[in-house]
Amino acid sequence: MYCPFCTHPETKVIDSRLVADGEQIRRRRECISCGERFTTFESAELVMPRIIKQDGTREPFNEDKLRSGIHRALEKRPVSVEDVEAAIVRIKQKLRATGEREVPSRILGECVMAELRQLDQVAYVRFASVYRSFQDLDEFRAEIERISSPLSPLADSKEEEA
Ligand SMILES: [Zn+2]
Repeated sequence: MYCPFCTHPETKVIDSRLVADGEQIRRRRECISCGERFTTFESAELVMPRIIKQDGTREPFNEDKLRSGIHRALEKRPVSVEDVEAAIVRIKQKLRATGEREVPSRILGECVMAELRQLDQVAYVRFASVYRSFQDLDEFRAEIERISSPLSPLADSKEEEA
């Protein structure tokens, strides 16, 4: 690919390694003309099932949309970009593993929640509040209680210190 800085057609690879559980190759490149460095990611493009929305319409699986949704949920949280990429890879694997050509958006939502739960509890609650609020309020409330209860002794001890 052309150098994104000076559009010179030749760049050399200075480092190459597997990321996202071996599903991607990360390459560090250097432009032989201007010397700027940049990173490329390479992964296999496999057919993803289409997503059936709540209103019954279908749309293509959109990885960028998924990524930005996860990043929004993880805003200001201590989670690395690499962990997010690995989560996206697992979500895609799960969707493909259904063997379906179309999957309900609910399934995608559940996959995202399962990953967020592993990555960061705060982000998980943040996403769940948006995702589940109009779907099953009781389930969400139960989830908040389940998550916040182990934290309450910590909150108590902080109050004692103050
Ligand atoms: Zn260049």
